Amino acid sequence: MNIILLGAPGAGKGTQAVKLAEKYRLLHISTGDIFRANIKGGTPIGKLAASYIDAGKLVPDDVTCEIVKDRLGKEDVKGGYMLDGFPRNLYQAEQLDGFAAIDVCLNIDVDPALLMDRICGRRVCSCGASYHVSTLNGKTTCARCGKELYVRKDDNPETVGARIETYEKQTAPLIDYYKKQGKLVAVDGGKGSPDEIFAEICKQLDKIL
Ligand code: ADP
Ligand code: ZN
Repeated sequence: MNIILLGAPGAGKGTQAVKLAEKYRLLHISTGDIFRANIKGGTPIGKLAASYIDAGKLVPDDVTCEIVKDRLGKEDVKGGYMLDGFPRNLYQAEQLDGFAAIDVCLNIDVDPALLMDRICGRRVCSCGASYHVSTLNGKTTCARCGKELYVRKDDNPETVGARIETYEKQTAPLIDYYKKQGKLVAVDGGKGSPDEIFAEICKQLDKIL
């Protein structure tokens, strides 16, 4: 099974992706993680991507599509994968249709009013886990692996505002795109704990698998 995860920044894509990958044995492919690894490694792609990411804009389509196409060309995707953060606009979705067979698009829907607080309060770990500062009770390390948590460079109010706007203008139209293809599964990501939302996602997915 090949899944796309759709949702605004702060909708909980990353959190749910980690759980879904484990339960359904899917390979988790996050374009955001790929770009951050390139930035950390100082590669040419990282240098190019950084300025867009810091401004809350999309990294250019040619670069992004090439990275995903390459990644989906590898052997290890054969058992099924989950795309987290791609596609993010109609052009990317059309390109993807040319080189991948997607079964389901899972949209995690969250009231835009909640997003700013969710992202600006986010603390992340390099292992992929993320937390909200309000639930950490002053702890600064990861409950899963013990490493020190940090704030992502693009999780500041200015950049978050731009990211939400980019999502609404460019990414939200994809909900309709996948609905028309009959591939859309939607869950409410605004109510309940991450575990409750995960249970709802599984219930929906198990109906169609
Ligand atoms: P979030 O969903 O919280 O915004 P991501 O880690 O998915 O975080 O993405 C971080 C940034 O990486 C985005 O704001 C964007 O600049 C860049 N990016 C990630 N995926 C794509 C994509 N498919 N196309 C263009 N840019 C992307
Ligand atoms: Zn960790």
